[in-house]
Order: sequence, then C-alpha cells, then structure tokens
Amino acid sequence: MKDAAVNFITRFAPSPTGRLHKGHAYSALLANARARAEGGQFILRIEDIDTTRCKPEFVDGIYEDLAWLGITWPEPVRRQSEHFADYQAALEALKAKGVAYPCFCTRKDIEAEIAGAGAAPHGPDGPIYPGICRDLSADEREAKIAEGTPHAWRLDLAAALALVTGPLEWQDELKGTITATPEELGDVVLARKDTPTSYHLSVVVDDGLQGITHIIRGEDLFHATHIHVVLQRLLGLATPVYHHHGLMLDEHGQRFAKRNKSVTLESLREAGESPEALKRNLLSQGG
Ligand code: GLU
Repeated sequence: MKDAAVNFITRFAPSPTGRLHKGHAYSALLANARARAEGGQFILRIEDIDTTRCKPEFVDGIYEDLAWLGITWPEPVRRQSEHFADYQAALEALKAKGVAYPCFCTRKDIEAEIAGAGAAPHGPDGPIYPGICRDLSADEREAKIAEGTPHAWRLDLAAALALVTGPLEWQDELKGTITATPEELGDVVLARKDTPTSYHLSVVVDDGLQGITHIIRGEDLFHATHIHVVLQRLLGLATPVYHHHGLMLDEHGQRFAKRNKSVTLESLREAGESPEALKRNLLSQGG
C-alpha cells in the first residue's frame, strides 16, 4: 500500500521463468539505487501469471540472487498468481466500459486471416490482430461462450481511444515527453485463454495498486508503455514516470537471455564473482 510520506516508489518485477541474469541485475540495482537516493521505496513483485512457465524454484532463485546483490525489499512480496481476482475486477470494469471483447481465434485463424489479407500491419510484438472477433454480434458472442468455445479477451482499442480525453502521453526520464501510439500494438490481449489476465493488464493494475510512481525497466518494454498508458486512463490510474534503460549486451552484442545459462547470477556466484565486482562492472556499462 502506498505510504503517504513516500513520494518515490519503484519496483523490480521479474517473471520466475528462469534464473536472473546480468540484465536483471542491472535493472534491479538501478531501481534500488534510485529508490535509496530519492529516500523512496524499492518493491519486489513476482510476475507469475503464467502458471505453466513459472516455477517455485525460480522464485526462490530471485530472492537468493537479489539478496546476494545486497538488495532488500519490503515483505510480503506481491505474487501475481495470488491476485487473479484483482485483474478480473479490472477486466470487468473494462467490459462495462465497452472496451473489451471476447476473441475466439486460434493462432491458426489469425495467421490465415493475415495471409489472406496480403500486407498485414506489423507492430513491435509482431502482426497486429486483424480484428476478426471485434465485429461479432452480442448474440454470436453469447452463443460461442455458451457452447464453451475457449476465448481470450481483447482491448477494443478504437473504442478505448474514443473514451480517452486530452493528450495520451507519458514522461520518460531518458527520452522526454512521449506521445503514445498504441495503434502499433492494436487490440492487445487483456485475458488469455489459459490464464484469466495478461501481462499488460496485470502490470498496470499492480503498478496502480502498489502506488508505483517511477517505473525503471529495460527498453525492450518501451513499446508496451504505449498500451499501458491507455489502460491506466481507462482504469482511472495515474501514469507513473518511466525510465527505460538500455539493455545489457553480451560479448557478441546480443541481449542476455534466460536460456543462456552462462550469465545467470547463480553461475557467476558459483564461479567466484563477487557482487561488488559485478555491480561495478554493470553500472559502468549501463545504458
Ligand atoms: N515481468 C516482466 C519481465 O520479467 C517485467 C515487467 C515490467 O517491468 O513491467 O519481463
């Protein structure tokens, strides 16, 4: 809960789908250092909505690795898998505003539609959903749901933008005022077929509930912010200040990936690296 005396609250929000690597360490150290410098708070949140890919041992690994880096965080840690009701409530609010619709498409349906359309618009997350289910009638939707057809829920971006008034923008500490262009992502998924929320919905809900004032994260998530500001407006949540930092690259100029075991903090620790040396090294490379 937001403490009225604290006006700088940031968070590190990893997904426990693997061990943390140097890129995570950089992000966590940067956020933690900023919170200390601002006399604010650093919060740890576990983003484990994907119950098939997230593993309890990776949650333990996150605690172990952050503690090794000398980072502390307030307890209890919010674990998204324990808060599906909060995301459900937000989804219901979006449905009530008429900006969410059920999508019955399979991946194949979407691919076929795109192939048939010739040139399909692409965004940073791949092809933009071509809107197949957007125009189904209320009766068609109800019938499919009644039949038990698996469905996701998508944002009706055009309907959402029609409700938003005033400039749609955010303050980015490195890039200045950014005007959001959510059309690049289109009708994003709000709740998946296999889990009753999505990254976009749960991150926005939690940042709001936890009173996050500053979001410090990698620039790989820059494009997601274009849709996050739309969701914040629709849900009546304040837009935090963002800081999208450059990504750590390995010696081949590639982003660190969880599948690359050699750069996990666990393996560095086991190889005898000291947290102090790692910190110096990361903060001197940092973007
Ligand atoms: N859970 C996301 C990830 O591990 C990060 C979410 C965020 O910082 O907004 O990539």
